[in-house]
Amino acid sequence: MGSMPRTLPRILVVGAGPTGLTAALELARRGLRPRIIDRDEGPTPLSKAVGISPHSLDLLHPSGVADTLLSEGIRVRGAQVRYHGRRIGAVDFGPLPHRYNFLLSLPQSQTETVMARALAGLGVTVEWGVRLTDLTIAGQGASVALEGPRGRETADFDLIFGADGVHSRVREAAGIAFEGYDHRRQWSIADVEIGDWPHSPDLAQVFFHPDGDVGFIIPIGEGRFRAVSNTPDAMARIHGDFRVDRVLRTDLFPLPIRQASTYRKGPVFLGGDAAHVHSPLGARGMNLGIEDAAAFARRVMDDDLAGYCDERRPVGRRWIRLSEGALAVAQARSPLVIAGRNLAIRLAGWFPVLLRPALERVAGLKE
Ligand SMILES: Cc1cc2nc3c(=O)[nH]c(=O)nc-3n(C[C@H](O)[C@H](O)[C@H](O)COP(=O)(O)OP(=O)(O)OC[C@H]3O[C@@H](n4cnc5c(N)ncnc54)[C@H](O)[C@@H]3O)c2cc1C
Repeated sequence: MGSMPRTLPRILVVGAGPTGLTAALELARRGLRPRIIDRDEGPTPLSKAVGISPHSLDLLHPSGVADTLLSEGIRVRGAQVRYHGRRIGAVDFGPLPHRYNFLLSLPQSQTETVMARALAGLGVTVEWGVRLTDLTIAGQGASVALEGPRGRETADFDLIFGADGVHSRVREAAGIAFEGYDHRRQWSIADVEIGDWPHSPDLAQVFFHPDGDVGFIIPIGEGRFRAVSNTPDAMARIHGDFRVDRVLRTDLFPLPIRQASTYRKGPVFLGGDAAHVHSPLGARGMNLGIEDAAAFARRVMDDDLAGYCDERRPVGRRWIRLSEGALAVAQARSPLVIAGRNLAIRLAGWFPVLLRPALERVAGLKE
């Protein structure tokens, strides 16, 4: 742990999603008292991101959060890959050189609830229903306008951590560009209950189709599954001999690929979806945010915030490049690319060592 800064900075964390909650937890467990606000009335009721990486579990270990998440989540040991209905290979997290050699599956609503409870245990309570409406950088610090149940308020802070998601008001008010593009395809998710699931309950399933459609399904609870697809009907791209007992939720989402032009402007820092968005391939979205937040908190304690953007922005950049490459291959329609991809997957099934670099990236162990 770094040395405590000489005068305690006044810190505002905007947004109590996984990124903001991690920042607040990591500051609070080292003795700082950030304020953390969220415009919503409580943790998200939605399942949203479900995959927690081994590295995120490492980062959430000192606050005690990892142990609770581990006791509530499902340990996904790997994935089976199918093309046109036929099994072509498998991915096994087992050989990962890590104590958590699996992807922990837990709906984001539960992850956030666990984090907010642990934070309260450290003496910091999320101020729900409080929205940041404006922010002005003034001298060394920033002045913000907040709106909440107690009315309007202006307050001054030394540091602002903008973890307010993809439409970040902090980013906008600080005048930081969010550069990129949007994919044309509309993606979908479905959370479903399946009683007679024909596959292993701790493996994800990947379905590639000749027309470039893709379907993924991952267990998220006892008899419960999350399907994701690059088509408007996620379950239509999951094949097999099973019956859906209940559809818990379906949703459509666009796929923006964007990154903030900088993660820092004076006293204002960005992390999580406020700083980067990309495809769900590789399940890194929420995990990159947890890593950003942990790096921010560590640097606050070390009085070394100058390197935050140079540390975290290239990681986001690299992941956007990698996940866009993986997406192009997953959505391939060219027979040549499909043949190459499927051969590579078969080879990786026979020689798991070939997959290790990719798995280490998904696990957050290598950037
Ligand atoms: C339907 C859906 C499915 C998804 N599926 C996956 C998946 O399978 N895998 C994956 O990795 N990722 C997935 N994601 C993305 C994942 O949920 C995000 O990457 C993750 O939530 C990012 O966390 P965050 O804390 O940075 O931002 P968020 O979770 O968006 O949190 C931002 C918080 O800021 C608050 N806020 C916003 N503006 C203000 C303001 N002005 N003042 C105060 N508070 C504010 C919001 O209320 C919110 O609570 C999905 C997202 C959606 C919507």
